[in-house]
Amino acid sequence: MSQHASRLGGLRGRSHIPFGAPSHQRLRRIPRRPRRIAMLSVHTSPLHQPGTGDAGGMNVYIVELARRLAAIDIEVEIFTRATTAALPPAVELAPGVLVRHVDAGPYEGLAKEDLPAQLCAFTHGVMQAWAGHRPGHYDLVHSHYWLSGHVGWLAAERWGVPLVHAMHTMAKVKNAALAVGDTPEPAARVIGEQQIVRAADRLIANTAEEAEELVRHYEAARELVAVVHPGVNLDRFRPTDGRAAARARLGLPADALIPLFAGRIQPLKAPDILLHAVAHLLEEDPSLRERMVVPVVGGPSGSGLAKPEGLHKLAARLGICDVVRFRPPCAQDELADWYRAASVLVMPSYSESFGLVAIEAQACGTPVVAASVGGLPVAVRDGVSGTLIDGHDPADYARALRPFVQDPGRADRMGAAAARHAQSFGWDTAAAATAEVYTEAMRERRRLRSAHG
Ligand code: UDP
Repeated sequence: MSQHASRLGGLRGRSHIPFGAPSHQRLRRIPRRPRRIAMLSVHTSPLHQPGTGDAGGMNVYIVELARRLAAIDIEVEIFTRATTAALPPAVELAPGVLVRHVDAGPYEGLAKEDLPAQLCAFTHGVMQAWAGHRPGHYDLVHSHYWLSGHVGWLAAERWGVPLVHAMHTMAKVKNAALAVGDTPEPAARVIGEQQIVRAADRLIANTAEEAEELVRHYEAARELVAVVHPGVNLDRFRPTDGRAAARARLGLPADALIPLFAGRIQPLKAPDILLHAVAHLLEEDPSLRERMVVPVVGGPSGSGLAKPEGLHKLAARLGICDVVRFRPPCAQDELADWYRAASVLVMPSYSESFGLVAIEAQACGTPVVAASVGGLPVAVRDGVSGTLIDGHDPADYARALRPFVQDPGRADRMGAAAARHAQSFGWDTAAAATAEVYTEAMRERRRLRSAHG
């Protein structure tokens, strides 16, 4: 049975009334557009610092999207797991955006892998929050990542509202392109993702490629998958006073070649390939050592947590400790200066659902050398705003970096094109497109209700 047919069947089977819904819910008028939505982010909080552990692009995505939705009169309540005792039950993130902390399991010591066992507890917390409101408080559920999808599945059914889901990453896609020795995602996640694909009213994919992956790997009904490119905060990420000024602020040499890595340090992001490429370049031209700095900004995450010293050890083995500078994850305002200061951002990732850092660096006027995987061919205009590379051979990355050594003006020229390219990725556009997906999901609900009511 197709995803669409199964949903129609499900709705018909229960006369399009969610199981257990109180009678006032059954008769509730479905508005044209949601006034308030429940956004679910079980495993990571939008209030956490991205760039390490479980906090990364999805956190940024949720914060930026929620703010922009609120600005177009769609209130957002974000449910996330409480990870310290000191957290208040609810925090206003911005006008119209509330973060609700849900008690589900101990505050500390739970890894993401342990969270499937806490989903009932989390759902209980979401239901408790809902029970304190008037009927129809939430018009729609938008869940992020498969763990939240499972909570959203039940909540949306119970409330009789549409479920819109964004995978962010998919087990089957990650497993198909693992770095050597990396740990595959478990079968339970694959099954969980398949269930969400069947349950969701709409799926939001970052790119057309991700939409194809949903269809190919998870048998998603094509017409229910909407492509919405994520955005970049163009107020925060912009060239401002340029490369030289940013280098001065960060104490970096004005004339150095600076290939930057920024993001979570884990095998799938492949910062090791950048280090190998740098070793290649230094072998070819030892004089470069005097005018090269390689910042690595971010902290360990995922399977990278098993060997947090791994990258430091690799730099030592390659004899490049003098050029590599490890920096802990930092706030986006500071990260923007790292982007501006860099000659080029390097992303040799094995898989990348979109790769926000690529678009952020470009918005700051810095070109990108990236693996041609996932969303990166959308984020980077090959030959214009950067270079895309097939595969993960460090020699290819060294070859792509060499022109930046030979032609110091290249970073500025490509950087200017990159800044122009990034202009088309504003979050306002992403929020408007997401609101349109919500509207369609609600229209479909109304249509089904009138057809079967
Ligand atoms: N980031 C940050 N501080 C850091 C490193 C990264 O705030 O020190 C943010 C960065 O601005 C970006 C996000 O973390 O928005 C990473 O998103 P991306 O899509 O590149 O990777 P993901 O973490 O989703 O795999």
